[in-house]
Amino acid sequence: MIDITLLGTGGGMPMVNRYLSSTLLTYKGRKILIDCGEGTQVAMRKFKTGFKSIDIICISHFHGDHIFGLPGLLSTMGNSDRTEPVTIIGPYGLKKVLSGLLLSLAYLPYDIYIIENPNEPIYIKARKSSLEFGEIDASSGSNSDIIIRSLELDHSSPCLGYSFYVNRMPKFLPEKARLNEVPKEIWKSLQRGEIIEYNGKEYFPDMVLGEERRGIKLSYITDTRPIDSIVDFISDSDLFICEGTYGDNEDLEKAIKNKHMTFEEAAELAYKGRVEELLLTHFSPSIEEPEVFKENAIRIFPNTIIGYDGMKKLLNYK
Ligand SMILES: [Zn+2]
Ligand SMILES: [Zn+2]
Repeated sequence: MIDITLLGTGGGMPMVNRYLSSTLLTYKGRKILIDCGEGTQVAMRKFKTGFKSIDIICISHFHGDHIFGLPGLLSTMGNSDRTEPVTIIGPYGLKKVLSGLLLSLAYLPYDIYIIENPNEPIYIKARKSSLEFGEIDASSGSNSDIIIRSLELDHSSPCLGYSFYVNRMPKFLPEKARLNEVPKEIWKSLQRGEIIEYNGKEYFPDMVLGEERRGIKLSYITDTRPIDSIVDFISDSDLFICEGTYGDNEDLEKAIKNKHMTFEEAAELAYKGRVEELLLTHFSPSIEEPEVFKENAIRIFPNTIIGYDGMKKLLNYK
């Protein structure tokens, strides 16, 4: 299962009653942050999420409302004695943008790894003290815990959407292990998905495991126009977090001009992508009460919820 906290739901600029859109995922005690606008660390304090265990930060694009909070947050993480590295993922140009943004940080007690515009899926393994990359069966990614994918979006600056697939390990079957004459000493390792050589013989996870089981899919799309490639990318998500910068259908022209979406357009994507649930966020500062426009989305995709700062959701395996 995976824990989701909407740290903020605003677009453009931080408001007194609405922080900028940013989402925190927690898996086995470790964290992935998506976007970090000005004030994101204040929201973390308000909603008591903690920040020391953030191992990965996914940046959608370089507009201030998604990235200006980064120097402050990284600095605070350094002051809390963090030593494990932090990996930052984002569009082309990330290295250059970060080198400017982080100029004011004289020293950080941890390393920063940068992944620019990942074309391939990123396989993550959860360890006690961090989310790690590598040691993955690259052909299927089956022994990874989380697979992160990205998609190029259509915004006024290079922008990436993200999806997170949380793998669910197949059931461990002791009868199968016995039948395959697998020594008990290596049951646990095989159960974790590792290939083990023991007494000169190779043992594989499928010698002790049952059928594959469906994991959890979460997708995150902001900021963009509703392009066709999003439909495939988000397909069958358990939760689709999407920008709804404008609630009123009358603002469609503004949405087209500023490369954003209306609630209705986000709902159309949710419907076409056959997702389970749509969660709207990134509301324009001009919208005081996003709930007022909920009907514009519901009409097209009934299972829509309007995000609010501090909203928490727990996604479980089915
Ligand atoms: Zn934005
Ligand atoms: Zn933007």
